[in-house]
Amino acid sequence: MTGLMQGKRGLIMGLANDKSLAWGIAKKLSEQGAELAFSYQGDALLKRVKPLAEQLGSDTLIDCDVSDMDALDTAFATLKAKWPTIDFVVHAIGFSDKSQLRGKFYDTTLDNFLMTMNISAYSLVAVAKRAREMMPDGGSILTLTYYGAEKVIPHYNVMGVAKAALETSVKYLAVDMGPENIRVNAISAGPIQTLAARGIGDFNYILKWNELNSPLRRTVTIEDVGGAGLYMLSDLAAGVTGEIHHVDAGYNVIGMKAEDAPDI
Ligand code: NAD
Repeated sequence: MTGLMQGKRGLIMGLANDKSLAWGIAKKLSEQGAELAFSYQGDALLKRVKPLAEQLGSDTLIDCDVSDMDALDTAFATLKAKWPTIDFVVHAIGFSDKSQLRGKFYDTTLDNFLMTMNISAYSLVAVAKRAREMMPDGGSILTLTYYGAEKVIPHYNVMGVAKAALETSVKYLAVDMGPENIRVNAISAGPIQTLAARGIGDFNYILKWNELNSPLRRTVTIEDVGGAGLYMLSDLAAGVTGEIHHVDAGYNVIGMKAEDAPDI
């Protein structure tokens, strides 16, 4: 199966390095013929993102801090100057003060609550609003979420609350944009060791727990996420919108510790 994304082009937001979920998705899209542009957050990331983009034949790199609405306007104007229309956007962005991704949720400060909601949830709305103007013939928008939106995961705290807002935003955006044939979906990925994940308290314990207890008895890879991302962004998923699709080795269906799981 090749060429699923032939003739399609889109923006990948949230690539930090070759461990990023965005990288897993970008690779699969590129393999299937998609043309990619990348946005990155500030000069410090440019030197990591540039060689990765080059590997996939892209020289379109746009600086964009999604918490800054002017920066978002400029980023989409820059993209529009290169490509008048796009077919898809990947939003793989989340952030919170890591000192509050441990301990008690009630210790979350107002400033960090608002910042986390802004960067991790509202930014999807702000991106979708700008992206739709470049999707006159329809398109597909994909974001990344985590099970901590649905159930309490130790240390995930305010990020879980932001992911719940993100998941509900997916549904409202899907309804707003459905008549324009713009689909909006999320992948709820199982835990994967990335830069962002390193900020979460006891993350290795969460990883091990998922490996021992998920139906597939393993954790997922960025390639697993990439395959599902390709499906969501391609015409294979033409009838799918407003969906929160779990790519977590089945972890979300279990109700108890696996019988054969050792203590950790
Ligand atoms: P990552 O660190 O590779 O990517 C996070 C990205 O967010 C980085 O590129 C960073 O630059 C970007 N970002 C943060 N604040 C930003 C801002 N203000 N403006 C622009 N960009 C900003 O980590 P990742 O795990 O690949 O995270 C990607 C997405 O996947 C996040 O939404 C994360 O919550 C989600 N996710 C991750 C996991 C996991 O276990 N790693 C599981 C489920 C969902």
